[in-house]
Amino acid sequence: MKSMKVYITEPLPMAEEMVRLLNEAGVEVRVSRIFHEYVPEEELLEVDGVIVADSRITPESVKKARRLKIIQKFGVGVDIIPVKTCKEKGIYVCNIPGINSLDVAEFTLAAILSLLHRIRERDSLARKARWNERPRSLSERLTGKVVGIIGFGRIGRHVARLLQPFNVRILVYDPYVNEAAIKIYKAEKVDLDYLLRKSDVVTLHVPLTEETRHMIGQRELNLMKHSAILINTSRGAVVDERALYKALKAGRLKAAHIDVWSVEPVPANNPLLKLHNAQLSLHQASWTVDFFREAARFCVDNVLRVLRGSRPLNIVWAYEA
Ligand code: NAD
Repeated sequence: MKSMKVYITEPLPMAEEMVRLLNEAGVEVRVSRIFHEYVPEEELLEVDGVIVADSRITPESVKKARRLKIIQKFGVGVDIIPVKTCKEKGIYVCNIPGINSLDVAEFTLAAILSLLHRIRERDSLARKARWNERPRSLSERLTGKVVGIIGFGRIGRHVARLLQPFNVRILVYDPYVNEAAIKIYKAEKVDLDYLLRKSDVVTLHVPLTEETRHMIGQRELNLMKHSAILINTSRGAVVDERALYKALKAGRLKAAHIDVWSVEPVPANNPLLKLHNAQLSLHQASWTVDFFREAARFCVDNVLRVLRGSRPLNIVWAYEA
């Protein structure tokens, strides 16, 4: 393993841990100190493995790479990796599905509760000691509300499970999941328009596909209650951001939590960043120390498998085949 090299494309929180584990196995590691939107071509030329989170890898850089054997995604979505080119060159592309599902689900619940209980506004009043403004800041219970879950895979199901003690009515839209699997969570399988009309909280957990791109646009936002809140921790382009901005600005939608963006990294001039009724995060729904620790160990083990001549786990070629 002495001459083997691995490149970690961005300064991830657990990068040091990965370096330590790889060095222990005799592998040389280089970690990028900054986030590149595109991984520089020259970094891939002479490495055996790559661990990547959010930086994009171009098909050209994969074509030029001389000894690359595995690209390991530090997460789930592989839309930043040219899977087809990798397949043509026999380079494994692997991800870690499911490992952060619970983290995203807990974050979703936190976002819902934080919006309903107006945690941000209350914090801000408290910091200014504006005691007299307290009566204007009334919040809402989650208990007894209708929650619509769009996409009932790993994360959607965790959300449904976490919601159980709140005694909410759970509506699910996912044409690919059968009713029996939904009923286990005391939820109802419904169509999209019904879910949008009835829900007080709508939360998105679908992958980004041609079918789900802009699945929440002006028409869908108009169907929602004016008092409803929308949570998006899935992929930015699942929502038409312009339509969402207009709906929030006009008060046609009460509030939203946006974790994922149509363009990432999100440009500082994105108008959603200025809205008071948008609660925001930078694609960090799964960023728990627990997830990072597990993911770091998984990525290192999987890369080492390939460097030692074995087949890795969670090969995603089939996604684009
Ligand atoms: P999953 O594959 O387990 O589940 C996705 C579900 O969406 C499936 O049940 C599928 O049937 C359903 N679906 C597909 N097309 C649909 C459509 N047109 N309409 C309704 N449902 C449809 O995925 P997951 O692991 O639960 O992840 C869900 C989303 O969360 C993905 O977009 C993923 O990229 C994203 N994610 C975000 C973060 C974050 O940090 N914000 C972290 C992990 C995952």
